[in-house]
Amino acid sequence: MSNNNFIQRENFIAEIYHNDDDDELLNTKEILRDNYDYICESISEEGYKLENPECNLFKELLYDDKVVGFVTYDYTKGVGDFSLNEIYVLPEYRGNKYFISELEYMLMGGSTISIYEPTHRIIEILLDNDYARKLDDNLVLTSINLDVNKDNAECSVDGHTLDDDMIHSCNLYDLNMSACLVLEDISSEDKTIIHYSRCLDDDNKYFSASSIRENINDDYFENIKNSILSNHEKYITTLMELEEQKPTADFDFDELIGRPPHLSDYLEGLINEQIITKDKALEIQAQMIDEYDNGLVLSESLLKRLEYLSMEDLINEEKIEEGFDSSEFELKCPYCEFPTTPINRTCDVCGYKLDNEAFAEAMSFEDIKEDIIENVKEMKNNGLSDEEIMYISREFTSSMKSGSEVDEEIEQMLLEIVSNVLEDKKQ
Ligand SMILES: [Zn+2]
Ligand SMILES: [Zn+2]
Repeated sequence: MSNNNFIQRENFIAEIYHNDDDDELLNTKEILRDNYDYICESISEEGYKLENPECNLFKELLYDDKVVGFVTYDYTKGVGDFSLNEIYVLPEYRGNKYFISELEYMLMGGSTISIYEPTHRIIEILLDNDYARKLDDNLVLTSINLDVNKDNAECSVDGHTLDDDMIHSCNLYDLNMSACLVLEDISSEDKTIIHYSRCLDDDNKYFSASSIRENINDDYFENIKNSILSNHEKYITTLMELEEQKPTADFDFDELIGRPPHLSDYLEGLINEQIITKDKALEIQAQMIDEYDNGLVLSESLLKRLEYLSMEDLINEEKIEEGFDSSEFELKCPYCEFPTTPINRTCDVCGYKLDNEAFAEAMSFEDIKEDIIENVKEMKNNGLSDEEIMYISREFTSSMKSGSEVDEEIEQMLLEIVSNVLEDKKQ
């Protein structure tokens, strides 16, 4: 390809397109066709398929001043702020860490980023760059959330679909099937419900995903389940370690928020744009000083916190309108009550610091397990009926459970252990 073909940015600044109306997404193919015919050509020459050709934000990727690729985001599909739903770099410019640099850029800017329907090749890049690690030969844990397309995900149980209240996001990928896995009721004994993302063109081409999937049966999912259950502690520690390694923003409090009587440029900007009043700005500042001093907000999420607080009244109004009900969420943020995950240090919605003690507790699973087995045996020897023992065990595990997804899993596993002990005693 001759150099003249490239679109060039003299100031070395990538151009960005975004939609003004949230309901009307940008058509990625149209943007490419209208502006970057050489990228279009490369995509079709290579036979690459844009699986998700709509976005809220389209950003050029530059090599020096040349546009050599693009990345697109959807604001609405993922759990976090930005769901990366396409990235493409001209073949001759690959190997320059465009994808990883993009992740780092977003994370260090304080944004929550997830990947929508990642290809197997993307997962390999995550593995090579400490954003993912193998749990066993095929299962991979990622520190970046993977968003699953709910409408065309498949399930280990026929006719089972992902329902709307479930978060269609996970940290688990199967290299064999080339699929993101969303587990449901993993510890229930009689069923194995595993939702998995659809077969992508790219994975079919490079990893024969489609023919591999043809040979997938119930045993296959059973094995996944068993591997996760038996590697439970590794699962948890790996996720925590990956989370620790993730780059984070490091905002300066005085610069971003300011100290009275001064307001920061950011807060002044919000006042000038009439997003908040001066009184509200002072109120937010006072609240954030208090929270920051008390360790309730970390430096990495100051911007998110500030953005949230400036929108808080609107968000609360919407919550009321939509009949927001957090009682169903197993683990939620103590401040905004939106669902969170046990590995999150801070709330993805409001930036509040989360207490991960429940998670540390989960790590002593082996100790709890031994205690429970001892107790069950003792109760049995004291002549309690199986029903009574199950009842007491259930009371015990539910009092231990602090409401997180993982704890729910552990609770189920412990109850399973109890019933196994009782079963053994019968024989
Ligand atoms: Zn389901
Ligand atoms: Zn929150």
